[in-house]
Amino acid sequence: MDRNGQKPQVKMNTRILLVEDEASVRDSTHTFLVDEGYACEAVASGTDALARLEQQAFAVVLTDIRLPGIDGLALVERANALQPDTPKIIMSAHSDFELTLQAIRLGAYDFIPKPFRSLEHLAVAIRRAVQHHQMILQRRDYERRIEEMNQKLAQLNAELEEEVHRRTEELIHANRQLRTLDEMKNNLLANVSHELRTPLVSVRGYVELFADGHLCEIPSHCVKYLHTCMRNVDKLLALIEGLVNYADMARDGVELELTDIDLRALLEEVTDAARSQATARQVGLALTVPKTPIPAHIDRRRMGEALRHLLDNAIKFNQAGGTVQVAVDNVGTRLAKVWIHDTGIGIAESEQGHIFDRFYQVDAKPTRRHGGTGMGLTIARDNLRLMGCELRVSSQLGKGSTFHFTVPTQLVDPGPHNPLGAVLTAAQHK
Ligand code: ADP
Repeated sequence: MDRNGQKPQVKMNTRILLVEDEASVRDSTHTFLVDEGYACEAVASGTDALARLEQQAFAVVLTDIRLPGIDGLALVERANALQPDTPKIIMSAHSDFELTLQAIRLGAYDFIPKPFRSLEHLAVAIRRAVQHHQMILQRRDYERRIEEMNQKLAQLNAELEEEVHRRTEELIHANRQLRTLDEMKNNLLANVSHELRTPLVSVRGYVELFADGHLCEIPSHCVKYLHTCMRNVDKLLALIEGLVNYADMARDGVELELTDIDLRALLEEVTDAARSQATARQVGLALTVPKTPIPAHIDRRRMGEALRHLLDNAIKFNQAGGTVQVAVDNVGTRLAKVWIHDTGIGIAESEQGHIFDRFYQVDAKPTRRHGGTGMGLTIARDNLRLMGCELRVSSQLGKGSTFHFTVPTQLVDPGPHNPLGAVLTAAQHK
């Protein structure tokens, strides 16, 4: 009973095994512990105690040290094997000091001198042992739960790995299919483009013959219509040229034809070729290049193609009164930086990461109005990249764009005091 005269629930479920051969001590201790609220079982020998320990779990074993047959020491040792988490308390007389020490070494949790100094002393020792046992049980419970969680985690891990493996296989499969489709698309593109080009070239040739009056007399007011036809066929041919190039590159890979060229001359040539387009759109076109040639070891055709696409866009996505500037600087440091700057419609920041993607066109009215295939920048970037030049853009919507890249040159560094000596070769505004 506790101080309120009641047996607390915890104690009622707490089983204590009392081992004492002296009947009077056994009975009084048993009575005291039952009164304390414990479920106490009393046995008179080590043999009986072991038999009970084999059948039932106990919170505490309270044993005399001197017992007939199996004594307290042997009992502690064997009980430890049977119920290792159960504290064993030795009851020993003062004269049994050595034996008590031995019992502690064998794993006894505590000892109580006998006869008991007071029953309260026994109660405290039992309570401490019960608490110790409960803590061990709690720890075991935590360990068990952690073990369970670890097992679940390991299982989840295994499932995850399996899932990742499955998805990877799916992706590999999908990738293979995509590659096959891509090859089919490239073949189709190459074939269709070649098929389109041949009849168009023939149409272009005959229209030109008619326009020049080689085939028959054409009324003078009709000649301009034939020229319009020619211009539009030229546009179509340029588009098809782009498609053919792209398809060939995608299908057969690329072989660069590197030669020593003058980058300045190439820039002049490409800018001159774009002049009529700029004039027609009322866009000013200026080229700033150094006075001396810029020797570079590059693929002339691919560099020219990249420059043409960049210049074409700079004029196309511009407005009447706007300007396009092509410039080279840093020539003296073995690197020539080429800039194509326009004051056109600009490109929103969110679009700048996409414009180099194949067939991508900014989904805005001006873009649609200006047509195109969405391949110009892809071709320009790929061509330049093959020559080790990285094409970059900086742009502000409504203000204009600057496309730039750096070309390795074969110029000797003229030193910091030697100015670039750039000259403005042409500027045109309409
Ligand atoms: P397109 O055939 O449409 O010109 P590109 O690959 O050359 O294809 O360019 C992709 C898109 O990037 C264009 O449709 C346009 O929206 C945008 N763009 C490219 N250059 C410029 C520029 N200088 N100014 C504004 N927008 C540009």
